Amino acid sequence: MTRRTAIVVGAGIGGLATALALARAGWDVRVLERAAGLGEVGAGLTLSPNALRALHWLGLADRLAPILSLPPYQISEDPLTGAETGRLVRGARAIEQYGVPYAFVHRADLHATLAQGLQRLNPTAIALDTAVSSVSAGADGASVTTSAGDTLEAALVIGADGLRSSVRAALLGSQTARYTGFVAWRALLDYAQAPAGTLPAGSAVTFGPGRCFVRYRLEPRQQLNCVAFAREPDWPEEDWSVPADPEVPARLFDDWHPALSALLRAAPEGRCYKWGLFDRDPIPTYAYGHLALLGDAAHPMLPFLGQGAALALEDAVVLARALGAEPDVAVALQRYDRARQPRGTAAQLESRAAGLRLHGEGESPRQVNEETLDYFAYDPAGVAI
Ligand code: FAD
Repeated sequence: MTRRTAIVVGAGIGGLATALALARAGWDVRVLERAAGLGEVGAGLTLSPNALRALHWLGLADRLAPILSLPPYQISEDPLTGAETGRLVRGARAIEQYGVPYAFVHRADLHATLAQGLQRLNPTAIALDTAVSSVSAGADGASVTTSAGDTLEAALVIGADGLRSSVRAALLGSQTARYTGFVAWRALLDYAQAPAGTLPAGSAVTFGPGRCFVRYRLEPRQQLNCVAFAREPDWPEEDWSVPADPEVPARLFDDWHPALSALLRAAPEGRCYKWGLFDRDPIPTYAYGHLALLGDAAHPMLPFLGQGAALALEDAVVLARALGAEPDVAVALQRYDRARQPRGTAAQLESRAAGLRLHGEGESPRQVNEETLDYFAYDPAGVAI
């Protein structure tokens, strides 16, 4: 085994960013992905300035420009009248204050940008249809076993296989993720399909007791991303994301201002999905000898701060920097862990609290939100490791 070989389990946003960061540093990296094809769900994603800093460090600034949507501001709306009740300035102010924009992106566009970045350096880095079933740590490396029975070794193994991580289960024991009682319906509409007066200038958030509705523009695709959150006592589905009839959330929002249910009813067939929101408790470490956990595999969080993918991108940068600064892989992973575990844990807990705020409990999200909690200022390229 050569010293700079790495296996990344999972080709999500976190796994691809990690593989790209390692490949740029000269590592021989393989990404093992269980799915038969590369892709992401058809939905939007917030890229706050901390996420953008990670993507710039990965050398993707120019490639991102055509796929980003840069909102001038985010408004909050009264649930009953739709009147504006608050405004957070984004746009040029975010660039002035943070040096990078606050943006929205279609998840598939970001995913493809990361995959292409990796494939430009190593066209065969990604192995599809390859599910990892177990991992084991050795003295100077680690190995993974695939469900086809193959065993692969490397100096470094990264578990970036998401909320239901097999790598995490192999290291920590299998524990079922907890259903939180929140459901998200996600719908994507072409601008032309959105009823008159429902398109915000950038983004709009409407929150009240038990429900929350977020919508934002994806300018390069001329699409509006809508996410409607509500409490549902049970999640009877086997999968955590299922195609949904938009009439169901539309009815739930019928007593709020009419734009919201009208938008859901206008969602075209096949563009509305229902997600059960699952959660896990924080773990004390992300580093296990020559193995480490990253992204949702390490710190799965509810989506209410919009920081899950952002933290996965930060993880990738800090991990690559730690490996660049420290030749002993196990020691480098400890440095990665020390830099990242406190932030991952805080984000998991603060995402839970944000969920309550956005559903009308506790302080107003206008007063306490991901920006006031200082998520945007974090610089994964400069933070001490
Ligand atoms: P994943 O994206 O889950 O990727 C894991 C990959 O591993 C997948 O490709 C999977 O197929 C593969 N895999 C799984 N098991 C195996 C195995 N055994 N072997 C091989 N491969 C395997 N975050 C933000 O930053 N901003 C937002 O605005 C935002 N909005 C969100 C809205 C909703 C409704 C939800 C549910 C989440 C949102 N998030 C957001 C969170 C974000 O989507 C996740 O945190 C992020 O995608 C995690 O990336 P990941 O790469 O760690 O995991």
